[in-house]
Amino acid sequence: MDRLIYLDNNATTPLDPQVLEAMMPYLTTHFANASSLTHRAGRIAAAAVVTARQQVASLIGSSAEEITFTSGATEAINLALKGVFARYQSKGRHFITCVTEHKAVLDTLAYLEKHGAEVTYLPVNKQGAIDLQDLENAIRPDTVLMALMHANNETGVIHPVEKLAEIARRHQILFFCDATQSAGKIPWQIADFPVDMLCLSGHKLYGPKGIGALYVRRQNRRIQLDALLHGGGQENKLRAGTLNVPGIVGLGKAAEIAEETREVEASRLMRLRGKLEQTLATLPETGINGAGEPRLPHVSNMTFRHVKAAEIMVKAPDIALASGSACVSGTRDPSHVLLAMGLAEADAHASLRFSLGRFNTADDIDTCIREVRAAVESLRASSPVWQLYRSGAID
Ligand SMILES: *Cc1c(COP(=O)(O)O)cnc(C)c1O
Repeated sequence: MDRLIYLDNNATTPLDPQVLEAMMPYLTTHFANASSLTHRAGRIAAAAVVTARQQVASLIGSSAEEITFTSGATEAINLALKGVFARYQSKGRHFITCVTEHKAVLDTLAYLEKHGAEVTYLPVNKQGAIDLQDLENAIRPDTVLMALMHANNETGVIHPVEKLAEIARRHQILFFCDATQSAGKIPWQIADFPVDMLCLSGHKLYGPKGIGALYVRRQNRRIQLDALLHGGGQENKLRAGTLNVPGIVGLGKAAEIAEETREVEASRLMRLRGKLEQTLATLPETGINGAGEPRLPHVSNMTFRHVKAAEIMVKAPDIALASGSACVSGTRDPSHVLLAMGLAEADAHASLRFSLGRFNTADDIDTCIREVRAAVESLRASSPVWQLYRSGAID
């Protein structure tokens, strides 16, 4: 087998060839600056940005003027959280988030803590779920914002955002939602869960890297944000800098394709994941993390106790998988998400994330099942720890 079977779509997705095709003219012929409205070339670029903004808005059910293009979800998160912190000091400095959030949220809030913010980190249960009563209890008169994600990147666990949005409304606090993993993957619209701000990223939905979007509600209550970048006043003065027209066009096209295909694709991938989980779960001492909660249909996080995920990946080098730690580049620390769900350190190290995507076939999944099963079985066969476990000496 010479082909790499790519099952790490939560880390990044391949570029859809249709997206590349849509971008090409804006990397070549239509290279003009979208702010150069004095000539036709600039107006062509500007028109492409208008179309892309509508495509992204349509995907999430917002209006186009509520979409700000950024360099990705990380920048959108920084803009939202730092932007609110700067503007809402008179209301307070207290933020609420959850221990299983992406590092882009956790590290931004840790930065704000150094500048006077107070942050409450909600725990999760063994399934990765937040207790809504914990959230209610955490809200204070000086709470400004809660940052809670839609779907978790490591486990696929989906938070009940409708209920979270209702709580935020009732207590009059802002709700920022990191929807980077759910956007374009499962059908939802802003109307389903009225958040105030939300982010998504091009390279997580078959678009290019280096482009993302921040949704900021404009209806009903207006949200005040300080910009991170100052310069030419682009993006309604929220994000200065010459627009990345090819990236924006690519994100727009990716959003359009995702809107058309997400429903059918979600059920196709759910079937493939079902087969993967049912087969691999027949191995002894194997668990599926977060399986008791609603999850993204294409994501599976499994623990193969008493083996190291890193060793499984060495034994199955043609399958691109992630251990919980892979997201935090280079580190070998066990996943903060799995530890928060109560897994022992050894079990977190024994966990693999399978994230399926648009270009995976049923054959890919069969090969993956075969390779991973063989790897786990052979590692256990030669493992003294496994022999001890089998003999009952440890548990
Ligand atoms: C990938 C990811 C991010 C960061 O997105 P970038 O566009 O790469 O900056 C943030 N949050 C979640 C949940 C992610 O999966």
